[in-house]
Amino acid sequence: MTKWAMVIDHQKCVGCGACIISCKNENNTPDGIYWSYKITETAGTFPNVRYHYTPTLCNHCDNAPCVRGCPTRAMHKAEGGITMHDPDKCIGCKYCMFNCPFGVIYFNWRKPHPEWHKKEALIEGCTTSPEEMVDIVGGKTIPYYNPERERTLDGIRPKGVVEKCTFCDHRIKKGLLPACVEACPADARIFGDLDNPSSVVNQLLGKYRAYRLNEHLGTQPKIYYIRSFNPGTYLQTKGEVS
Ligand code: SF4
Ligand code: SF4
Repeated sequence: MTKWAMVIDHQKCVGCGACIISCKNENNTPDGIYWSYKITETAGTFPNVRYHYTPTLCNHCDNAPCVRGCPTRAMHKAEGGITMHDPDKCIGCKYCMFNCPFGVIYFNWRKPHPEWHKKEALIEGCTTSPEEMVDIVGGKTIPYYNPERERTLDGIRPKGVVEKCTFCDHRIKKGLLPACVEACPADARIFGDLDNPSSVVNQLLGKYRAYRLNEHLGTQPKIYYIRSFNPGTYLQTKGEVS
C-alpha cells in the first residue's frame, strides 16, 4: 500500500516562499488562507542575526485527531494515507480545527475571493475594475483560477466550511508531484512513498535523523524534517571585484 510522506530539508530551505505561492495558485485558496506556510524564527543577537525557516503544511497524520473528531466524517482518510475533506459533508463545526495540533486547517468565514467581484476601479477612469479584469483574462471566478483543482475537490471551497492541504491529490493521481515540491527551487521539499523501501524519502530518512512536529502527541505525522540550517558551514561573503 502507498503511504505518501514528505521530507523537508532545513539545510536546503532558503525561506523564499515559492512553496507558499505555488500552493495558493494550484489550489485557488482564498486570501489569508495558506495550506502551505512557514514558521520564521529569528536566531542570534545583533548584528549576527539570521532567520530560521520551518516550512509547514498538513501532516496527513496516520492517527489524525481531525478525522476522529469530525461528527459528519467530512474529514476522512483517503488513498495513500491522505487526510481529505469533503465540503459537501462539512457542517462547519470547526472540531477539526480545534483538534489539529498543527493549526493547518482554515475556516472560510466569508465568500472566498470577494474582491474579484468588485465593480469599482481602483483609480476611476484609469484602471479596470476587478470584475472587468476577470472578464478580460477569461477567468471563471478569479484570474488565476486553476480548473485542475476541481478534479477531486471543489475548485473554490464555499463559505462556512474548512479547508486544508490535500498533498495535491489531484496532481498525484496524474503522476505529478505536489505543487509546493515542484516549485521549490532548492529541492528542500522531497515527496514519496513511505511504503516503498527504495523511495527517496526512505533513503533520506535512513541517512539522516529526522524529527516531526508535535511528535509526542502520537498523531503519527507524515512530514519529516531533516538537518538544520547552519550558516557557519558557508563562507559569508559577497565576493570581490579584483
Ligand atoms: S520553496 Fe523551498 S526553499 Fe523556498 S521556502 Fe519553500 S521549502 Fe523553503
Ligand atoms: S468543521 Fe467540517 S470537517 Fe471539521 S469537524 Fe466539523 S464537520 Fe468535520
